[in-house]
Amino acid sequence: MADRDGVIWSDGKMIPWREATTHVLTHTLHYGMGVFEGLRAYETPRGSAIFRLKEHTDRLFNSAHIFMMKMPYDKATLIQAQCDVVRQNDLKSCYIRPIVFYGSEAMGISAKTLSVHVAIAAWAWGTYLGPDGLEKGIRVKTSSFTRHHVNINMCRAKSVTTYANSILAHQEVAHDGYDEALLLDVDGYVAEGAGENIFIVKQGKLYTPDLTSCLEGITRASLIELAEEIGIPVIEKRITRDEVYCADEAFFTGTAAEVTPIRELDNRTIGSGRRGPITEKLQALFFECARGNGKHAEWLTHV
Ligand code: PMP
Repeated sequence: MADRDGVIWSDGKMIPWREATTHVLTHTLHYGMGVFEGLRAYETPRGSAIFRLKEHTDRLFNSAHIFMMKMPYDKATLIQAQCDVVRQNDLKSCYIRPIVFYGSEAMGISAKTLSVHVAIAAWAWGTYLGPDGLEKGIRVKTSSFTRHHVNINMCRAKSVTTYANSILAHQEVAHDGYDEALLLDVDGYVAEGAGENIFIVKQGKLYTPDLTSCLEGITRASLIELAEEIGIPVIEKRITRDEVYCADEAFFTGTAAEVTPIRELDNRTIGSGRRGPITEKLQALFFECARGNGKHAEWLTHV
């Protein structure tokens, strides 16, 4: 990814893609203390627009606050920078990655004296869980790795260090031929996918785990709003994996994964083994909004 044309916003300046490098003694590289975001811009009839830019930027600042990393820029600056990165790379639809990390002034776990850096890159990124996934659904397996407990690695923060756990889980199930991993919390209840929130549908109602052990997903919040608007009740509660086995439908949500149906968990077919009707409806509503053809114009920031 490092060797390509384009520009990256780095500490207040737009610099050539290949020059956006950091020293090997960068603190975050060694100890994993860093926070980041993932956003998507979609092509709309009025040009490229970033989906829920304000909410993602708020979450980035919350993540930094939780980790006691002092943000060197204000929200308005980073909102503008994210738009500039999409525009200046001439991207129509893309993924946007802001990252906040510590500098290389010192090693050791006291991060007190370290500088805080911000970089923002953007690139075209197609369907995350395979081109067929959005339509046909994916095969998921419960990982043997447990999702972080809230007092091990706080789940409200989208932090670099969370993702070692996600990668372990994903690697494990991908090795056995599954598309994505489901992680359980320390008590054995369903938490989330390696990089997605999970929903199930049962008898016309939508259920999703409460926010104790999963990221407060922005796609999740959008789907809850869209479901309620069309009269589908949404219940946040503890969910067991056998509830997922017996659900009528299930799907993952996330910026990268968008709304991806789950057709199988642990080799048990879910519902009809295809994208279910409620999933299809909510997925369509989500894409209408993201692509500027639906409600919620306030979710889009045109670049
Ligand atoms: N959980 C995890 C662990 C994630 O990495 C993501 C992707 N950011 C999500 C949930 C979904 O969050 P969002 O909808 O805000 O992208």
